[in-house]
Amino acid sequence: MSSTSAITSSVLPTNGSRAAGQGGGDSLSTLPGAGPKTRARLAAAGIVTVGDLLRHLPRGYDDLRVQSKIATLGAALADRLVVVRGVVRKVHIFPRRFLDVTIDDDGATLRARWFRPPGGMAKSFAKDSVVTLAGPLRWNDEDKAELIHPTNLTSLVAGGGVPGIRARYPAVDGIGGRVLEKMIAAAVAGLDVDDDDDVLPACLRQSCGLPPLAVALRALHLPEAGLSPAELEDLAAGRSPAHRRLALEELLILQVGFCLDRASARALPARGCAVDAAALLADAQTRLPFSLTAGQQAAVAAIVADLDAPRPMQRLLIGDVGSGKTVVALLAAIAAARAGGQTLVMAPTEVLAEQHRRTLTKLGQPFGLRVALLTAATTRVERQRLRESLGKGAIDLLVGTQALLDAAADCADLRLVVVDEQHRFGVAQRARLRAGEGSAPHLLVMSATPIPRSLALTLYGDLDATVLSDHPPGRQPIATVLCATDEQRDGAYRALADAVAAGRQAFVVCPTREHSARSGSVTAVAHHRTLIRRLAPARVGLLHGALKSAEKDAVLRAFAAGALDVLVATTVVELGIDVGNATVMLIEEADRFGLAQLHQLRGRVGRGAHAGRCLLLLNQGGDGEPAATASAIERLRCLTETSDGFCIAEADLALRGPGDLFGRRQAGAPALMFGDLPGTLALLDLARAEAERLVDGDPDLGRPEHAALGAAVRARWAKAAVYGEETG
Ligand code: ADP
Ligand code: MG
Repeated sequence: MSSTSAITSSVLPTNGSRAAGQGGGDSLSTLPGAGPKTRARLAAAGIVTVGDLLRHLPRGYDDLRVQSKIATLGAALADRLVVVRGVVRKVHIFPRRFLDVTIDDDGATLRARWFRPPGGMAKSFAKDSVVTLAGPLRWNDEDKAELIHPTNLTSLVAGGGVPGIRARYPAVDGIGGRVLEKMIAAAVAGLDVDDDDDVLPACLRQSCGLPPLAVALRALHLPEAGLSPAELEDLAAGRSPAHRRLALEELLILQVGFCLDRASARALPARGCAVDAAALLADAQTRLPFSLTAGQQAAVAAIVADLDAPRPMQRLLIGDVGSGKTVVALLAAIAAARAGGQTLVMAPTEVLAEQHRRTLTKLGQPFGLRVALLTAATTRVERQRLRESLGKGAIDLLVGTQALLDAAADCADLRLVVVDEQHRFGVAQRARLRAGEGSAPHLLVMSATPIPRSLALTLYGDLDATVLSDHPPGRQPIATVLCATDEQRDGAYRALADAVAAGRQAFVVCPTREHSARSGSVTAVAHHRTLIRRLAPARVGLLHGALKSAEKDAVLRAFAAGALDVLVATTVVELGIDVGNATVMLIEEADRFGLAQLHQLRGRVGRGAHAGRCLLLLNQGGDGEPAATASAIERLRCLTETSDGFCIAEADLALRGPGDLFGRRQAGAPALMFGDLPGTLALLDLARAEAERLVDGDPDLGRPEHAALGAAVRARWAKAAVYGEETG
């Protein structure tokens, strides 16, 4: 029984619930304004329970505490929120269009305007009464200041209340900020601040000086009127103790899940492979066509040591594009084979699997390694033959796609599973490998996303990480150029056409825009049509996520075989494809990508004898979309200055947070809601150390003070497991 299923077999409701604890599982139906339609919309955005709603954080705050004299309102305050008080002088109603109210403050007047005001609104503005209004200050066409849609604070002030700090909420799928504000206010009112049923153990909270959940949620949604300007600034920037508390909670839940998974993975026995690392490396020196880099040697030594242990290896090998991970995997497989064991190598696509089969067969041949391939294209007869060979131990290494998970049971002695460039290989898939009886295979996961170690621990917290930090010698650097002006864009396409005319191949990558009507595939499709005309007679292919996987494979195969000159694609090409003749990587709207992702993309060219070139074109705006900003362009400059994937990942991380580094698409990598906030990366180490301590002392989180945490971990990981299966 794997730990993941143990974690997920909880009785806790898991339908979208992101957190337990305060108000966690309660339904939204008790809240004002939460009718069936609204609830359905919220549910579509992942907000199902009161706990979820309370985690829909404000996008900003309006400080209503400071009143301004109307006479002092200058252009410097344009678009800022102002609070003013005055006597009502004029009221104009334009039925069903707008309501104008002019107020007078010691002789200075200001007009307030509401478009399509609700009926009866004018009644609250009796002539000569004193009103207090808060709203954004605008300059109208006549160059006069006015308030647009201000909030009427009059009754609050008259009742002796002090206007405080008011949260502004991002709309959710057509539900406006005001409606959300009312619902959330009711939810906050229902919080029990004395309830200590908290996911974060009290001692941890105290040692970090962080508030209990209810206190934190209240502070975020209903800030105290006594907040200092500095505190309000921190709150608005996501740097408050309340934010840190939510981040630590999220990271702790994740890390505890990792620790439990890891503990159960280690609880299973594995068959050790007693192999002499020095002898293996010496053989590699004479039988491979090149010498291993120092990084490769160290990685092989670490892996061989792991393989010798009676517990299954759980290792992550992180190496930049082209750092030579495949050879490390090969030597691991040879070590397993020398001990009489078998290896499965899993690739994310069929084309990559075939590529690996070729490489591993060629490089493994001097070692006597017997390599075979299993893909969707393998015939039934052939498949049967493969199963028999695996059962007899006549195959040392089987390469394929995720379908290989089924072949695990046919192996005579499966010792090692290697997962390459497979971001989607999450906790759920790993658990499947362990689901069989008896022993578990050793696991080596390889990732080309050069992430800092700290981040690797968040995303693959249950794996030990080895970093390949050097490159094989002799690789030509890829010249990277930013193309901003029309002239430069034309130049980029001319360079591409020239390369094609010289017999080389090129990629043209278009962004996938999930949140736009113009989705990435549409963009790529349209661009493909344009380029067929523009680059004629070059043969231009098209690859995007909406194609069936057989179609994708056919296109990639045609490109790899040289039957296409140019491949127009979305980021599906990002994963490890190796076409030695491809020299130009042209990226449209490069400012829409993360730096790490761009670095991955450019790693697809210049892999052969010819130097590679990466042309980064900028988004020019239009269609209601803004053009690339100066800061986006500055960010891209990092790519033109360094080819070190780790530097780039660090820069990306600092600029955009870990979520963007991963393009929010890797199911194995849990999406972070709060751990992604500025400054929260520093909490990672704390969360990990704390998780280890907790799980060491209370392996099934059975103690009463850990009950809330245990429930939250189960709910969180149930979701992660389902997600992993769906997308894997
Ligand atoms: P990645 O880490 O991106 O998967 P690969 O394993 O595909 O990189 O290796 C990139 C290229 O470098 C391959 O052609 C491989 O044969 C070559 N290579 C790997 N290690 C070395 C080395 N030590 N010396 C020279 N070339 C190497
Ligand atoms: Mg690779």
